[in-house]
Amino acid sequence: MLLSTPIEKIPNIGPIYQKRLKKLGIKTVLDFLFHFPHRYEDFSNIIKISEVKQNTPCCIQGKILDIQNSRAWKKRMALTQAIVSDKTGAIKIIWFNKPYLTQTLKPQDLVCLAGKPVIGDKGLYMSNPIYEKLFQATDYKISATNLTHTGRIIPVYPETEGLSSRWLRFIIKPLLAKLEINMPETLPEKIRKTHRLLPLRTALWQIHFPDSMQKAKKAKERFSFEELFFIGLLMLRERIKLTQKKAYQIALNLSLIQNFVASLPFKLTDAQKKSAWQILKDLEKPRPMNRLLEGDVGSGKTVVATMAALNTMKGGFQTAFMVPTEILAKQHFREIAHLLKDFNLNIGLLTGKEDKFISKKLKNDVVEVSRKKLLEKTAKGEINLLIGTHALIQDKVKFGKLALVILDEQHRFGVEQRAKLCQDKKGQTKLIPHLLSMTATPIPRTLALTLYGDLDLSLITELPKGRKKIITKVTLPPEREKVYRFIKKEVKKGRQVFVICPRIEPTNTVQDNGFNQTDYTKSYGELSWAEVKTVKAEYEKLSKNIFPDLKVRMLYGKMTPKEKEKIMKDMKNKKIDILVSTSVIEVGIDIPNATIMMIEGAERFGLAQLHQFRGRVGRSKFQSFCFLLTDSTAKKTQQRLKALLDSEDGFKLAEKDLEIRGPGNFSGTRQWGIPDLIMSSLKDIFLVEKTRLAAQKILEEDPGLKKYPILRARLERYRRKIHLE
Ligand code: ADP
Ligand code: MG
Repeated sequence: MLLSTPIEKIPNIGPIYQKRLKKLGIKTVLDFLFHFPHRYEDFSNIIKISEVKQNTPCCIQGKILDIQNSRAWKKRMALTQAIVSDKTGAIKIIWFNKPYLTQTLKPQDLVCLAGKPVIGDKGLYMSNPIYEKLFQATDYKISATNLTHTGRIIPVYPETEGLSSRWLRFIIKPLLAKLEINMPETLPEKIRKTHRLLPLRTALWQIHFPDSMQKAKKAKERFSFEELFFIGLLMLRERIKLTQKKAYQIALNLSLIQNFVASLPFKLTDAQKKSAWQILKDLEKPRPMNRLLEGDVGSGKTVVATMAALNTMKGGFQTAFMVPTEILAKQHFREIAHLLKDFNLNIGLLTGKEDKFISKKLKNDVVEVSRKKLLEKTAKGEINLLIGTHALIQDKVKFGKLALVILDEQHRFGVEQRAKLCQDKKGQTKLIPHLLSMTATPIPRTLALTLYGDLDLSLITELPKGRKKIITKVTLPPEREKVYRFIKKEVKKGRQVFVICPRIEPTNTVQDNGFNQTDYTKSYGELSWAEVKTVKAEYEKLSKNIFPDLKVRMLYGKMTPKEKEKIMKDMKNKKIDILVSTSVIEVGIDIPNATIMMIEGAERFGLAQLHQFRGRVGRSKFQSFCFLLTDSTAKKTQQRLKALLDSEDGFKLAEKDLEIRGPGNFSGTRQWGIPDLIMSSLKDIFLVEKTRLAAQKILEEDPGLKKYPILRARLERYRRKIHLE
């Protein structure tokens, strides 16, 4: 058995389990072994039955004297009752709803039982203990290494449907034993020694079946180090790769920029000016820029990016502008075309395949062209700016003279991907375009250092002047009517409203917002999905019962691009009063006249995401409002939502999200598949810095990692896993 062996070849895993495992992304032995427990139970202290104490978790060993099924007549529940004894005494055991146990556990069998003894009508008994059959009887104590579920510290894995911790232990333990010889160490010996890290093999054993809590901690330390070290290496290599590439040098045309700034209907903030300056200076260099422009929602990133694009285009080059959704592509197309209307440029829009293709020439003269024609024009360099979705990085799209790629709300774009956009007919690229990535997702410092370690950072730290603070309220069901009355009043004044629902329709399959709802809901004991507000139901209710005289529409990701475009256009043109939507409007949508954001089932979203929703309003001189509706009075939920009332600072909210909701749900990272372990390590700035230094050092000595083939191979795998390319 090798680390690369597929799970199909692991004994005892049938098709049903294979499917469940694949759902978790577990495809090979290696994936399996890197599925780590999230906590442990310490049952290592095996005691005599005479020493068992009420309410003190313990582990006992003994012989089953009797075991029988019965029914609790009141509760209609299956009971399995047993008596277990050792030399010092006997104790009663009760299992609930596990009648099948009598098939495995028979009188005279030796067992080890772990759990909490409680006191009942007839004395002390163990309720629902974890059991393990003993095949090798010694007088009293079996060596803990032979035990898997009891008599030791046992791993508890994150709860997943159909994959119990018991089952995982049952599979993982023999896997570890089989792999003893075939587990090559990935970390260079020197690094492992310097940082006192456990060898891989030991660490894997100890993270799953630790001899002590101390050892478990050491094992976790090793893996945290390793993963951060990998990321550090990937980022630094990316950086090195870039410094060896060449880019078009785009001279800064100061009078052009001054003209543009003068044409704006507002004054740029100092932070916008500073960021623009940093970017324009980068464009002058012969090396490709790799810059992240970070600014809270509504801070005005688009106009900064437009300045860079304008300078590039007037310098005789092309710009590509990629965004995550069609709605956003169309919005940018409209608005950037408007900002640049006096600059005599060709701007194209390229989206999904059912879409129409528009080329915009001069003023507001929109020309529709075929995709073929648009691509031809792009290849010839006639289109100065091409705005689009992922369609931009299809093979067919080739630019004649692409010098700048702008990404909105999409952080990652590898060098290879960039190079591909400007390949010539022979598949060669001489020059790599500059890259400007924009995000409103505030990134804690550690995250920036690691996950964005290859990027330079520009920050827009202030909002345009005159913006009013958005009034935010956590709203419980009794106040719903009040909110509706308020909405009516605001709409009468001419304002518009967004209503966000967690889901489209009441099924169990659709998840329209970024993170894994089931896990989250489970861990917080919130409502079940059946009770969640859906776009379709709310739309029905609002349009028919609550606001029959207002124009209510709905929007969700699965609508056709045409439908979506029409809705957004109508919203922009104030033909819609209330838009009921899923989280598709989360990023970037700019409708300044909208002043109310009502979020249903607010507890289901992360803070950073809620902050993004809130950022959809408060974009004009009108006072804006955000209502966070929740049925949950759970303290944790209320506390979490209140963080939004206290803070408008996206950075603080992001840190808080990381702290309260834990690692895996951090906005924007789940889709990268960043392992939870890294996310939790990211709280540790010292570790982050240590691993980064280690990565730096090893690359200085051996940039190609030639001396470390195993590390190189793992790294390649890792790169794919976290979607760096
Ligand atoms: P984001 O940074 O969230 O992408 P946008 O670029 O969409 O923000 O800008 C939000 C709104 O603010 C837009 O309507 C834009 O025209 C406007 N805006 C941008 N900069 C300024 C400024 N300096 N003063 C006033 N309004 C501005
Ligand atoms: Mg934006």
